[in-house]
Amino acid sequence: MTATDRAASRAEELYRIHLCHLYACPVCSNGAECRKSVCLRRAVRAARLVADEGRPRWTRPT
Ligand SMILES: [Zn+2]
Repeated sequence: MTATDRAASRAEELYRIHLCHLYACPVCSNGAECRKSVCLRRAVRAARLVADEGRPRWTRPT
């Protein structure tokens, strides 16, 4: 498993945790956003950025 794979699975895991929170949290399920949700969303974004850095998103011209 490469560092990129690990970063990608970490991002996936955080995303799932965030989704679970949205269902479980009374504030978030009301359409509002609690402090924990903001933290989780930032963590997901940061993890995705790390995952994307290790993976070329566009094919480079030869
Ligand atoms: Zn919440």
